[in-house]
Amino acid sequence: MKILLLAPHADDVELGCGATVARFVEERHDILWVVIAPVDTLNAEHMSIAEDLGLKRSKCPYFHFDVRHIFERRQELLENLFVIRSSFNPDLVIGPSLNDLHQDHRTVAEEMARAFKNSCSVICYELPWNHISFDVQLLVKLEKRHVEKKLQMAGKFISQFSIRGSYFSEDFVRGLSAVRGIQLGSEYAEAFEIIRWVI
Ligand SMILES: [Zn+2]
Repeated sequence: MKILLLAPHADDVELGCGATVARFVEERHDILWVVIAPVDTLNAEHMSIAEDLGLKRSKCPYFHFDVRHIFERRQELLENLFVIRSSFNPDLVIGPSLNDLHQDHRTVAEEMARAFKNSCSVICYELPWNHISFDVQLLVKLEKRHVEKKLQMAGKFISQFSIRGSYFSEDFVRGLSAVRGIQLGSEYAEAFEIIRWVI
């Protein structure tokens, strides 16, 4: 399966669905992981994670939008996503939720929906601090090793620990994965909203 991961900022995919990414890498899916508004320190931490996962640099491109100002170039983002739709032709796109209140995340979610709603499955990862509501419509079943991998990813974002360390804490990562796992009768899971599901 060809999977496109969309990260408004360099840590969003790791935080939102890092354990699912670990599972998808293990299953040898073809992954393209795009960061839309890069920031130097976070990028280095993100690239170190991608390297650890064995992803090639060419599979982890950056767009060059400005943090908190993505909406000002919304059309350009949409056109970039159309280019990816043509060149990569994903089967599954994973990005932020339409219910995410961060302005960059919301813009990326809307343009993702516009670009891919008629061509493939589109799902949204969970970032609890950004949602007033989040519909748990899809659960990805995970093993302990996938959650351990997510914890390793979280541990790489040293630049963020003093600013918002709770997002990266072991208790939080394990706790949310366990909560979503209980909803599935599994030890661990990650939750997603569905914009479009194609089978
Ligand atoms: Zn973000």
